[in-house]
Amino acid sequence: MRPFLEIALCASIICVPFLYAESSMSSADSGSLPWIKAASEKTQKELISKYGEGQRARAERGLGQVAEFWRSEDGDAAAFEEFALNNFAGDQATLNTVFERYERLLEQLNGHMHEINREFRQQSDLDKGTVLPLDDLFAGYDPAAHVVDDFFNNKLAFIVLLNFPLTTLQERLAEGPGWTRKEWAEVRLAQTFSKRIPAAVNLQVASAGAEADAYISQYNIWMFHVVDDKGKRLFPANLRLLSHWNLRDEIKADYTDAQQGLAKQRAIQQVMERIITQTIPQAVINNPAADWNPWSNEVKPATEKDNESMPSTEQKVTNAPEPCTRYAMLLKTFQAARGVDPYSPTAPTLIARRFDEDREIPEKRVRQMLEQVVSSPLAPRVAQLIQTRLGRPLEPFDIWYDGFRARGKYTEAQLDAIVSKRYPTAEAYRKDIPNILLKLGFTPEKAQYLANNIAVEPARGSGHAMRAAMRSEKAHLRTRVESNGMNYKGFNIAVHEMGHNIEQTFSLNEVDYTLLEGVPNTAFTEALAMVVQGHDLEILGLSTPDAETERLRTLNDFWATYEISGVALVDMEVWHWMYDHADATPQQLRDATIQIAKNIWNKYYAPVLGKQDVMLLAIYSHMIDSFMYLPDYPIGHLIGFQVEEQMKKAGAIGPEFERMATFGHVTPDMWMIHATDKPVGAEALLSATEQALTQVSAK
Ligand SMILES: [Zn+2]
Repeated sequence: MRPFLEIALCASIICVPFLYAESSMSSADSGSLPWIKAASEKTQKELISKYGEGQRARAERGLGQVAEFWRSEDGDAAAFEEFALNNFAGDQATLNTVFERYERLLEQLNGHMHEINREFRQQSDLDKGTVLPLDDLFAGYDPAAHVVDDFFNNKLAFIVLLNFPLTTLQERLAEGPGWTRKEWAEVRLAQTFSKRIPAAVNLQVASAGAEADAYISQYNIWMFHVVDDKGKRLFPANLRLLSHWNLRDEIKADYTDAQQGLAKQRAIQQVMERIITQTIPQAVINNPAADWNPWSNEVKPATEKDNESMPSTEQKVTNAPEPCTRYAMLLKTFQAARGVDPYSPTAPTLIARRFDEDREIPEKRVRQMLEQVVSSPLAPRVAQLIQTRLGRPLEPFDIWYDGFRARGKYTEAQLDAIVSKRYPTAEAYRKDIPNILLKLGFTPEKAQYLANNIAVEPARGSGHAMRAAMRSEKAHLRTRVESNGMNYKGFNIAVHEMGHNIEQTFSLNEVDYTLLEGVPNTAFTEALAMVVQGHDLEILGLSTPDAETERLRTLNDFWATYEISGVALVDMEVWHWMYDHADATPQQLRDATIQIAKNIWNKYYAPVLGKQDVMLLAIYSHMIDSFMYLPDYPIGHLIGFQVEEQMKKAGAIGPEFERMATFGHVTPDMWMIHATDKPVGAEALLSATEQALTQVSAK
């Protein structure tokens, strides 16, 4: 349940049905059962004599899959044999019945578990008054947490493994395009039970992740206490920035500060480098009681107070560095992830599980796409343009340049007034959904159908979309409405989340097999939501952004993708390094991370931005607590451009959206070829950038 594109400020809750949460082949203690080979051979002979030679291959595969997961507590040789003889579907009619039964009942299970989850979260998620401690406990409870275990214990998982094929990514990529839709649904059914990870191992992963999360979420720098060589304060009182998100966003915001902006940006770069090298004094982390010069690294008790909760300055303030906690946290997540490896023989590392299972794009291809972006000859051209716009040579932190924004035709206040008048309540927005959808090119019938399948509720936070997990349920749009009506920001988010709801409705209700519900991964639902979000002004009946604004937006997206691609490459290299040095100390990991970040910078960024040996690409907090999640961001940008390009080609969003979103959970490349005739790739982004650059530069 992570927000996918932080750049797009998405707060959507994308609930993955529990049954698809994990997938990989596994062999806990298989082979340790001395009788299993003989029992399999004996049972295979019996199955063939019962159902005929035609079932040999299926029987062999199914018994092999069951044997791989069978543990002594599941029964002895006789139990194994009896189970297989009773549950092998030896003819097509029986096999069809088994398939249909699982499809229907798993939809019910997923759907109702999700419904419980949604109900339990109501008080936390919706604008419904006080949240009691018990509401947090309800919200944190996952009724489906033990379902996979239960299904192995009662053997429902083994029946699937006995009858349907487990596959590797290589097989899905090579043979998948030739499978029927039903064969794809069978493959997804089997994947549901392709891991049997001991609860203790899962718990270790969860607790390492939670510990790293907690460390990151408290990592604030009190900027009023960051001083320069003359002891001058650059930042306002009470400005507390969470690393790395707020630090980076402050760099972005500082481009509009003509007086102090540059000095502030340089100070933040210095702070970031102290965090990466772990030379940051422990005393300045989340502590407004110390003044700190990040260049000299000198620390003193704060001479001015800006925060009431500030501890007494009598507390000892030294410049003793943070003791490499950052890298100790990362190492813990690595060790926990490594614990899963023995139960995942076909994807025996976290790296393989991320690429082969979660993303379903091989690492090698992702690396090529990212390298295509960071080594693009367009990068120095965009950099040149940024330099011209800034009127100074580029500095390393300009990888976060944020100035490709045209002034809109309407002020935020004007937009707020228009929106609050139109949507004083969540109910008013709900009623207008059919009209909104007509403006997006859906037919009146489809517009009404979608509106009937979307429940609108006032959100406690900024808003999110929650899918349904069975067809009898609605998708839920949670939107923020202030007491004086919806404001423009809330509306913009509501339109984005409604884009998710449209995808969710089509990809569940109109897909041919519910076992194929959804899209290949979160990047796809984000891409579709962003297409809808991009038409928010049109929905208000206001004129759409002009061509120059569109061009600037494209350049902004290119630069953001250029930056985050390097960050992703660092994340990937660091995980490889950890696997190559499994016994490393936090200090060794720190040194390796710095070197990796510098190498990638020197190869791809130094030629464009000038300076050598910059380590800024290692500042992202996700690298510490998110188990190599960062590559999803650049992939999301690339996919977004492909989807958007296709929508433009098609002319109207409605029918094209439906055509794409009903194709279901196949591999990303198959989905994208169906949607756009091309596999996932960087070309759409690069060609849009090339075009934008040519036209912007000409001015
Ligand atoms: Zn979203």
